[in-house]
Amino acid sequence: MPPDLLLTDAHAHLADDRLAQDLPGLLDECRRQDVGRILCNAAERRQWAAVTELSRQRGVFGALGIHPLFIGQWDDKTPAALEQAFRTAPPDAKLVAVGEVGLDAWDEPLRQTLPLQREALAAQLLLAQRLGLAVACHNRKTWHDFFGVLKDLRLTHLRGLCHHFGGSREILRAVLEHGLCVSFCGPAAHPSALRLREAIAYTPLEAILTETDCPDLPPPQAQSAQSRPWHVRHVLQTIADIHHLTLGQAAAIVRQNFEKTFVR
Ligand SMILES: [Zn+2]
Repeated sequence: MPPDLLLTDAHAHLADDRLAQDLPGLLDECRRQDVGRILCNAAERRQWAAVTELSRQRGVFGALGIHPLFIGQWDDKTPAALEQAFRTAPPDAKLVAVGEVGLDAWDEPLRQTLPLQREALAAQLLLAQRLGLAVACHNRKTWHDFFGVLKDLRLTHLRGLCHHFGGSREILRAVLEHGLCVSFCGPAAHPSALRLREAIAYTPLEAILTETDCPDLPPPQAQSAQSRPWHVRHVLQTIADIHHLTLGQAAAIVRQNFEKTFVR
C-alpha cells in the first residue's frame, strides 16, 4: 500500500474476528481501491498481537488498548501488560497510538462500570504520554466524564483523534483545545444525518479525519451490513461536498492531518 494513495482510514478494526477469513485479500483490495493509510485499533487484549503484526504491513499503523466495551478485561496488571506489548513489538511494527480507549455510557450496565472505565482511560492516557504515543478515543454519552478525566490528570494537550465524532460546537471546541482531531465515519455519509453533517461543517479542516470503524458503521452507499476501509471514500466525498473541495483536495488535507497526528 504505497503511502501516496488517496484514501485514509484513520480508525478501523482489521483484527476483528469477522475479517479473519481473508485479511490478505482485504489488504490487496485496499491497495486496489486507493487506501493508502489505515490505523488499525485493538478493542481487546487478545487482538494486541494481531494488530502489532498488521502494523508491519505497508500503510498500516497500529493502536493497542482496551475499549470501554471490554472493561471486564481491565485489572491492576493490565497497564504493565499493555506497556510490555508496546515495548516488545518488532522494530518494523508501526504502533503509533494507544487505542481504542475511552468511555461508554450507552446503557445502564455500562454506566455502572463508569468508575472502572475512567480508571482504565486514565491509565491508558498516561501510558500514551509516557511512551510518546497518540491516542484513539471513543466517547458515547460521556463527554463530561472524559473531560473530567483529562482535568484530574492535568492533561491539557493530547495528540490523537476522537472517533465517530458527533458532538456539539462546545464539545468540539474543548476537543480542539486539547489538541485532538475529530474523525467522521459511514453514518455521516447519509444524506439525512443532519447533526453529523453540521458537525463536519463546523470542524476546521486542519482537525478533520476520515474513518470507517471497519467492519462496523457502513455508509449507506456501500449497501452492505459491514464496512471496509475503501468505503471511507464516501465519507471523504461528504466532507469534500460540505467544505466545497474536490475529492483530491479533501484527501490531501486528511492525509496531512493523519501524518501530523500519527506518523512521527
Ligand atoms: Zn472503533
